[in-house]
Amino acid sequence: MNIALLGPPGAGKGTQAQRICHEFNLAHLSSGDVLRAEKMAGTPQGLRIRDFIDKGMLVPDDLMIQLMLEKILALPGGFVLDGFPRTVPQARALTDLLHDALRPLSLVLNFVVNPRVLSHRFEGRRICPVCLSVYHVDSMPPRVAGVCDNDGHELLIREDDRPEVVRQRIELYQTSTGPLIAYYAQLGILKTIDAGGSVDDVSVVVLDKIRRHFAQS
Ligand SMILES: [Zn+2]
Repeated sequence: MNIALLGPPGAGKGTQAQRICHEFNLAHLSSGDVLRAEKMAGTPQGLRIRDFIDKGMLVPDDLMIQLMLEKILALPGGFVLDGFPRTVPQARALTDLLHDALRPLSLVLNFVVNPRVLSHRFEGRRICPVCLSVYHVDSMPPRVAGVCDNDGHELLIREDDRPEVVRQRIELYQTSTGPLIAYYAQLGILKTIDAGGSVDDVSVVVLDKIRRHFAQS
């Protein structure tokens, strides 16, 4: 079972990916985590990546493909991709790789959320700089306000969650992923998720769609 999640920043892909992985025993690979780790490593490549992300720009296809494909192949079994692919060239490279590895994508879930709902979600978003857990002051608060449940570290607002960067990321997402959605629709493995509800409500729909999909195939 290999699944990819599409959706704008703030659509809840990360949280849903974790739940899918837990439910079906899959590995979660988030492009955001991969990029942040690369950024923090401080390599010339990491510095290049930081430049793109801080400006709210997409990391170029060649660099993304190089970073992600290697990590995907190293995953032991079924997986959930979150944030990759983001463009048609990335999707094509992924299709070729997985085809050659005899591990094709079985399902692509497209998370759709109203842009106003998205902006609100970002305003309350907080992240732990140590374990990278993501919280929200309204919908997913830590047990103690401002502090990570796992390690007690103070929670921060991520650089790429600042409002002006967020607006740019959402616009960029909309222009770059239209063709990607068409690409997967044509392959016949695309399903749409209305991701405007609460995390738990969306989760019920997501898990149900996956169960149905795999019951049919
Ligand atoms: Zn933490």
